[in-house]
Amino acid sequence: MRKIRRLSLRVVSAARSRAIVNGLIARVTRLNPMSETEKINLLDLNRAGLEAFFVACDEKPFRARQLMQWVHQRGVIDFEQMSDMSKGLRGFLSEHCCIELPQVISAQRSHDGTRKWLLSMDGSENAVECVLIPEKSRMTLCVSSQVGCTLNCSFCSTAKQGFNRNLSTAEIIAQLHLAHHSLLKEGHSQGVTNVVMMGMGEPLLNFDAVTAAVDMMCDDYAYALSKRRVTISTAGVVPAMEKLDQVTDVALAVSLHAPNDELRNQLVPINKKYPIHQLLAACHSYIDGYKSRKITFEYVMLKGVNDSLEHARQLARLIQGIPCKLNLIPFNPYPHAIYQCSDKEDIDKFRDYTSSKGIITVTRRARGEDIDAACGQLVGAFHDRSRRSEKYQLSLRDIEGVSIAH
Ligand code: SAH
Repeated sequence: MRKIRRLSLRVVSAARSRAIVNGLIARVTRLNPMSETEKINLLDLNRAGLEAFFVACDEKPFRARQLMQWVHQRGVIDFEQMSDMSKGLRGFLSEHCCIELPQVISAQRSHDGTRKWLLSMDGSENAVECVLIPEKSRMTLCVSSQVGCTLNCSFCSTAKQGFNRNLSTAEIIAQLHLAHHSLLKEGHSQGVTNVVMMGMGEPLLNFDAVTAAVDMMCDDYAYALSKRRVTISTAGVVPAMEKLDQVTDVALAVSLHAPNDELRNQLVPINKKYPIHQLLAACHSYIDGYKSRKITFEYVMLKGVNDSLEHARQLARLIQGIPCKLNLIPFNPYPHAIYQCSDKEDIDKFRDYTSSKGIITVTRRARGEDIDAACGQLVGAFHDRSRRSEKYQLSLRDIEGVSIAH
């Protein structure tokens, strides 16, 4: 059963890549070789996509594996240095293709070792943040999937900035390329070991680009991360959760944050569209049939809002029976936030209660607070096409008589 499922995953992923590659090949044929901007960024293609690309260029599919090893494993992005490819092929690639990485606008390091990069994705217009969290036995990279976010969760500072656009596959995988090769160049024995799609944006609203990037993260010829070490986090885009099961096998985190619809509607507005019973049904179907799969539920601790023992009781009743882990995230403040973090004693009582009901519960330690790199503090820099940031500033001015520098 699982074998069939895995096979069908590969077929779906190949079909998806073929569609992407067909578009790219159409572009190759009308390429103006003089135009730098028309070059195809090969970082946009996962293995199936690259194989289709090379076949379309009358090359053998194994070129895809060679290229991926150069780019992702050795960090080489200059085609001329790819010595196991023929001179003709290197010339062709240099003429028509590129490996384009984002520009680093700033790099910050927290006193606890957490690092944050602000990356310019297209010139200087759209910048997103990604964060590297070093721990004793792992290096976790928190990756962004969109420039801003459309979901408008009431406690999240990314939400206040509005939204500009989805990131491409290349722009997503480039964040891993940058962090991984920075570590290796600095002499670390290992690079990134874990990826969480918990940066800016809602990954499941950028489905194709995110799943293609995740393919590359797990590919043996690229970063070879185990599927258990790559996590997609969602606020609950239910139809996409159902689709995810068809195309990938990575870990899933769900930002629950409230144990009933009335409260969740306020905190996570997408709940009005996909209420809790639909969300939990989608969680069930993601793990059904997989003994080792667990859902990670994220629960931000907001003082006086969702942190009472009654909330813990409701939550335990709700998720008991789902193979899961519960992460309590102390709320990370930002300027003008309308929430406060729960008191430590309340967080501890909450954790003790859910643990006593057999739910594995962990309180997440805030990392990188001094450089605004903690959960929900990522903001980037971009032009907000949703105009939500403007409305937010106006509302602040009304409420508090303040104006915020942008
Ligand atoms: N949109 C996806 C990915 C973002 S992940 C999702 O909602 O899952 C970022 C995680 O940090 C989410 O669980 C989010 O709800 C949480 N978060 C957002 N703002 C926060 C804040 N100020 N303090 C603590 N956690 C926050």
